[in-house]
Amino acid sequence: MNELIDIKSMTLSELTKFVTENNYPKFRAKQIYGWLCKNVTEFDEMKNIPSDLKLFLKTSCYISVANIEKKLVSRYDKTVKYLFSFNDGQCVESVVMRYKHGYSICISTQVGCKMGCTFCATGKSGFSRNLTPSEMLNQIESAQQDLGVRISNVVLMGMGEPLDNFDNVVKFLNLVSSGEGLNIGMRHITLSTCGIVPKIYELAKLHMGITLAVSLHAPNDDLRQRTMPIARKYSMDELLHACREYFKITGRRVTFEYSMISNVNDSDENARELANRLSGMGCHVNLIPVNSVEGTGYIKSNIKRQQAFINILASKNIEATVRRTLGSDINASCGQLKRKHIEEGGQ
Ligand code: SAH
Ligand code: SF4
Repeated sequence: MNELIDIKSMTLSELTKFVTENNYPKFRAKQIYGWLCKNVTEFDEMKNIPSDLKLFLKTSCYISVANIEKKLVSRYDKTVKYLFSFNDGQCVESVVMRYKHGYSICISTQVGCKMGCTFCATGKSGFSRNLTPSEMLNQIESAQQDLGVRISNVVLMGMGEPLDNFDNVVKFLNLVSSGEGLNIGMRHITLSTCGIVPKIYELAKLHMGITLAVSLHAPNDDLRQRTMPIARKYSMDELLHACREYFKITGRRVTFEYSMISNVNDSDENARELANRLSGMGCHVNLIPVNSVEGTGYIKSNIKRQQAFINILASKNIEATVRRTLGSDINASCGQLKRKHIEEGGQ
């Protein structure tokens, strides 16, 4: 049997080509696309599509879904965390946050992750598979439908390493920003990477206008290699060079993420070294007090340490802020709800 086609991962022009090549009129593609944008889950729900075309679609394609498996709402700030399950039963997490400027969603790009960072709950559970473009879209659509709101900002900062699923992520970015689809502009999208250097150059060349966030978490190779295996493959010099090029090519400032771990990477000396490395770059540093993950033994830096770190960076003209903690009662950092789900016998 031929493999079924993931119809929701097609752009409107790909769908048009598919429909006309199979001898159906062009306008049907737009109708089908319209239904898919309305988040229908069955071809039978496509009311204005004739039954022969519906039968053809059923035998050649499938509609991918993201079903709500679990949902947690923070009592403090209404942050919502979802565990979504896909057609094959695999699950990922997404988090919706409410800011002054609107709703923002943090989506996953892979089931698990191969990168194995020592502080990360996702990294600890290993890798299952890449997400398709439609599965990334579905996390946004399902959350919007459930909450009855429009989501205006997307961060690719959930489970998985987006640049390790490059082609599907690029396809997703094109779909989500398309005027016929969710129409979320590239300027409202941030992609976070642990630093797969060649892919940063590839991304820059696409001129997509998204913000690049790079998980640095250390001021030198030695320290970085202790928590992030990817640092053994690409040195910090190579990584920072790629970030400078990203800025040069796209004109977009790079954000550096730095999880502060008590007595690991949060000393004054660490801050000074970081400031020297980043000096003269168009960048912003986002400090994140590390979230404790069972089995890591890492403790977050206290507020005094965070402030001292910021002051040192500021004295060298490097803009830094501490990321606001949202959904602290529902453990809004990714990978933890899924871990619990697996412990309870889920996928
Ligand atoms: N794989 C990508 C994106 C997903 S991880 C990346 O690594 O950038 C999203 C962010 O959460 C990264 O900056 C990651 O380093 C950070 N992170 C992971 N586990 C964390 C933890 N326990 N505490 C704080 N930040 C964490
Ligand atoms: Fe993967 Fe990012 Fe977690 Fe590292 S921090 S294991 S790259 S998801």
